[in-house]
Amino acid sequence: MNFSTDIKFLKGVGSVRAEAFYRLGVDTVGALLRYYPRTYEDWSKVYGIREAPVGETCCIRATVCNTPSKIRIPGGKLIAKSSITDGLGLMNLTFFNNKYISNMLKEGEEYYFFGKPFVNRYGAKEMTSPIFQKSAEAAGIKPVYPQSADLNSKFISKCVKNVLDETDEISDFLPEEIIGENSLCSLDFAIRNIHFPKSCSDLEKARNRLIFDELFILQLGLLSIKNINKKAVTECVMEKNYTDEFISRLPFELTGAQKKAVAEALADMKKSEPMNRLLQGDVGSGKTAVAAAIMYNAVKNGFQCALMSPTEVLAQQHERTFNRLFEKSGIKICLITGSTSAAQKKKIKQELKDGSVDLAIGTHALIQEDVEFKKLGLVITDEQHRFGVNQRASFAVKGNNPHIYVMSATPIPRTLAMIMYGDLSVSILDELPPGRQKIETYSVTSDYHERIYGYIKKHLDRGLQGYIVCPLVEEGENDLIPAQEYYEKLSNGVFKDYRLGLLHGRMKPSEKEEIMRRFASGDIQLLVSTVVIEVGVDVPNAVIMVIENAERFGLSQLHQLRGRIGRGSEKSSCILVSDARNDEAVSRFRILCETNDGFKIANADLEMRGPGDFFGTRQHGLPSLRVADILTDTEMLMRSQNAAAKVIEGDKTLSKPENRRLRKQVDSAFRKNYGT
Ligand code: ADP
Ligand code: MG
Repeated sequence: MNFSTDIKFLKGVGSVRAEAFYRLGVDTVGALLRYYPRTYEDWSKVYGIREAPVGETCCIRATVCNTPSKIRIPGGKLIAKSSITDGLGLMNLTFFNNKYISNMLKEGEEYYFFGKPFVNRYGAKEMTSPIFQKSAEAAGIKPVYPQSADLNSKFISKCVKNVLDETDEISDFLPEEIIGENSLCSLDFAIRNIHFPKSCSDLEKARNRLIFDELFILQLGLLSIKNINKKAVTECVMEKNYTDEFISRLPFELTGAQKKAVAEALADMKKSEPMNRLLQGDVGSGKTAVAAAIMYNAVKNGFQCALMSPTEVLAQQHERTFNRLFEKSGIKICLITGSTSAAQKKKIKQELKDGSVDLAIGTHALIQEDVEFKKLGLVITDEQHRFGVNQRASFAVKGNNPHIYVMSATPIPRTLAMIMYGDLSVSILDELPPGRQKIETYSVTSDYHERIYGYIKKHLDRGLQGYIVCPLVEEGENDLIPAQEYYEKLSNGVFKDYRLGLLHGRMKPSEKEEIMRRFASGDIQLLVSTVVIEVGVDVPNAVIMVIENAERFGLSQLHQLRGRIGRGSEKSSCILVSDARNDEAVSRFRILCETNDGFKIANADLEMRGPGDFFGTRQHGLPSLRVADILTDTEMLMRSQNAAAKVIEGDKTLSKPENRRLRKQVDSAFRKNYGT
């Protein structure tokens, strides 16, 4: 069977069900084979009624003692009761709303029942709505597929079986050698057994092979991207150290951690191999000052720098900060974002090309535009987690192999860092600037609003500032309306005697810039904002943050938001307002109230959301993982990394004929997510 055949041509599917398959992301026969079960029902291990584990899903073989008798209970529900025996024990069964049950279960016949036994209040064993099959048909381990309203797991299973029955051996793309060295099973075995395993150990073998494949292809792809920049020689060798000169311009002492980070970067930039370094530091740890120090060094050594930010608000803020820090240093700065006018852009591009501008600050417009530099020596990316790998790679090829420095507030687990960066070196800011106090965080319900407003006023009256973060709206939805309405309500009501400002994503960049400038200068006392302020914004005089509908935000996002306050020596407080009382939201709030530690929070986040989400395409532009779990599959991660490195060593661009099939796998895995 041809794997590229459209799913609608599969026996029994047809155009309506094909549509349902498309919605699940299954468009071809091949994609169906890669649509793995979500879990399995183990019908292979059969229990007697007495030893059936209470509270655990299991399979029991027994004979029906009496055909189910239906009764209708008040409210219209249909209940059917029956009992089964295996000769030694007795068990009651209850079925809800199944009109046909008495035709399906026949007295005196034997079935396999799959369900979760419990002990009822009379001390008897019971199961509610078990799945059952005639004993002759039941066997082995059954796949359970992620289903949709129009496609149930059983039907999907039938389709998969059809395809497998009509498929001769599935040919393998992995070289024999790799299969042998890593004791993997064949792809044919893996695909057949991930769907219909004959035993738990076969399933294990199949899973291992598929986990290996996913991680191997992922790393092969990353390595072949990275190779553009690997073992390169850079002309951007920076001999002289200007750090002391820079420190003398700073209004504060650098912390020990900041000094160490600067020294580590400078040591890298002295070499003739380009730096590839990550700076990891929690919100408010002072990453900007580190970036400033190394950019100052780069410029004084005669090179240009580029600083990329994920948002315009942040890029604008950086421009203000650096203009202040580098005042009268002779360093010339420009700002280039998606909304810089064409005429301005033209001028800036010219100045970068002829070398009259030293430092380009911008959003990813910086790499999208064909900006040319005269002598680009250092590229810094702020809030790295907001960019995709493809963007990172494309910057690496610009200029004559500039040094690369990325900064992130999101702590990345080791395994993930291994995949993402491979040989990237890491500096860590594990010390906060002196005088910081813990941000007190409170979780309250919306009937506290009056008190919250009073609390804010008390602080504004003392010359301090605050934020009110408006509820998040659906992606792509207009965030203006709720923010605008809320802003108007507040500024005409409780806060009519105060200076309020509104900031949202639909504003023009020049308007955003104006609002942020007025907020930074203290002209605006209370900023009503959507999440556009989420990353990077730094106004140390702001000490209160109220987050409305806090349940709509993820844990890390709340931590990032909260990181906008607690940046000065004044005590700060964050108030999470939410009426949601579901377990997940409540535990998120509890963690935030308990700790300010970004590493702890990131780990908790990862545990709650699962790595798939963290590692998902939205954040990083990498292929998503279906079977591999990067947190726990460390062993496979290492093996696949070694194997990928070996292949790349012999064929950097994967262009040799013997690697054609690998190339194809890599291309299709990455293409899906790059949207090309
Ligand atoms: P982040 O790491 O979140 O990007 P920033 O670089 O914005 O943090 O720094 C947070 C605040 O701390 C800024 O107001 C900055 O001026 C201040 N800051 C940074 N380093 C120091 C230091 N060594 N001593 C005192 N304040 C500092
Ligand atoms: Mg920052």
